[in-house]
Amino acid sequence: MDFTLSKEHDMVRTLFKDFAENEVKPLAQEIDEQHRFPRETVDKMAKYGFMGIPVPKEYGGQGADTLAYAMCVEELSKVCGTTGVIVSAHTSLCIDPILTFGTEEQKQKYVVPLAKGEKLGAFGLTEPGAGTDAQGQQTKAVLDGDEWVLNGSKCFITNGKEADVYVIFAVTGKVEKRGRIMKEISAFIVEKGTPGFTFGTKENKMGICASSTYELIFTDCRIPKENLLGAQGKGFNIAMHTLDGGRIGIASQALGLAEGALETTINYVKERKQFGKAIGAFQNTQFQLADMATKVEAAKMLVYKAARKKDEYKKDPKVSYSVEAAMAKLYAAEVAMEVTTKCVQLHGGYGYIKEYDVERMMRDAKITEIYEGTSEVQRMVISAALLK
Ligand SMILES: Cc1cc2nc3c(=O)[nH]c(=O)nc-3n(C[C@H](O)[C@H](O)[C@H](O)COP(=O)(O)OP(=O)(O)OC[C@H]3O[C@@H](n4cnc5c(N)ncnc54)[C@H](O)[C@@H]3O)c2cc1C
Repeated sequence: MDFTLSKEHDMVRTLFKDFAENEVKPLAQEIDEQHRFPRETVDKMAKYGFMGIPVPKEYGGQGADTLAYAMCVEELSKVCGTTGVIVSAHTSLCIDPILTFGTEEQKQKYVVPLAKGEKLGAFGLTEPGAGTDAQGQQTKAVLDGDEWVLNGSKCFITNGKEADVYVIFAVTGKVEKRGRIMKEISAFIVEKGTPGFTFGTKENKMGICASSTYELIFTDCRIPKENLLGAQGKGFNIAMHTLDGGRIGIASQALGLAEGALETTINYVKERKQFGKAIGAFQNTQFQLADMATKVEAAKMLVYKAARKKDEYKKDPKVSYSVEAAMAKLYAAEVAMEVTTKCVQLHGGYGYIKEYDVERMMRDAKITEIYEGTSEVQRMVISAALLK
C-alpha cells in the first residue's frame, strides 16, 4: 500500500492548481451570478489537454491515469464546482462509454475530437418518470431501414445544449428475464444538429449555476444505424458501468468543494477578530477545523482509492470498482455538504453574502449528494455488495 503521490502526479497537480487559480477562480463568482456557461474556460482547458486526461494518446487524449483526472476535477472544484462538473460529465459520462463500448470507427469519429476538446460531450439517461428507477424510461428507438428513429425526452442533462455529442439511452424493445417482461434498453450516440433533436427547458438551479442543465427532446430524430453504442439491449449495463466511473468524478468534485471551503475558512478565521482576538483562537473554531480536515482527508483517501481501482480495471477487466466508487461518492458528497455548511457558519454573517465564496460552495455541494445516483443509491450499491 502506497499513500505517496508520484512526482508526475505532484507535477500535474501543480499545473491544475495554477490553472484553477489563474483562469477559473477569477470567473467563478461572475458566471455563478449570471448563470453563464464558461465557454472561454472550456476552450482554454482544451488547449491544456484537460478535456481528455485519461484518454489514450492514440485517441487524442493525454494518456494519463484516472488519479490524474480525479485530481484535475478536484483542483477545478476547489475554486469552481461548475467547471469541475463540466469536465467530469464530458470525460466520465460521454468519452468513457464510447471509449469502452464503441467500435474503432466510433472512437475515431467521436472520442478523438472530444478528447482534444474540439467537441463537448453529455450523457442523457434521466427522464421525468425515470430518475433513480432508470429502467422506467419511455424514450423509444425503432430501427427503420438504415436508421434508428428516436422519440421521447430526457431531463436535467449536464452540458445540455452546449455539448456536441450525446450518449443517449432508449427503449428498443421488450425482453423476458426470469419470467418477467422487461424493457430492452440500448445506448446511442446522437449529435447536436441532427433534425428532430431539440432542447427544451433550461433548469434554474440552486447551485452549479453556470453549468448548463437542459431538457433534450427527440421527435422522429433519425440517426444512422451505426450510432448504436455497444450491442443492442446492453444499454442498461453501459449506463451503470458509466455511472460507476462518473461517481469518481463527482466524488472528486465534492472533495474539491470541501477542500476549497476549508482552505478559505482557515484563512478567514486567522484574519477575523472578535473579543480582541482572531476567531481562530477560540477552541470551538479549532475543533471544528480539526474535525473538518480529518473528514476531508478520509474522503480524499476514498476518492484516490476508487480512482486507482479504476486503473486496475483498465489492466484487468475482471476488477470491479463499483463499490469503491459508491463509497467515495457517498462519503465525499456528505463531507462536502457538512464542511461547506460549517464553513458558512464560521464566516458568520459574511458567510451568507455572495462576495464570500463559501455560500456558493455550500449551494454547489448539495447536488453532489443527488446526481449520478443519490446518496441512497450509493448505500444500496454498497449494502448489496456486503450482503451478496
Ligand atoms: C443539476 C443536475 C444535473 C444532472 N445531470 C444529469 C446528466 O447529465 N445526465 C442524466 O442522465 N441525469 C442527470 N441528472 C439527473 C440525476 O441523476 C437525478 O436527478 C437523480 O438520479 C435522482 O433522480 P430523480 O431526480 O428522479 O429523483 P427520484 O428518483 O424521484 O428520487 C427522489 C428521492 O427518493 C429517493 N429514492 C428513490 N428510489 C428509492 C429507493 N428505491 N429506495 C430509497 N430511496 C429512494 C431518492 O434517493 C431521492 O432521495 C442531473 C440532475 C440535476 C439536478
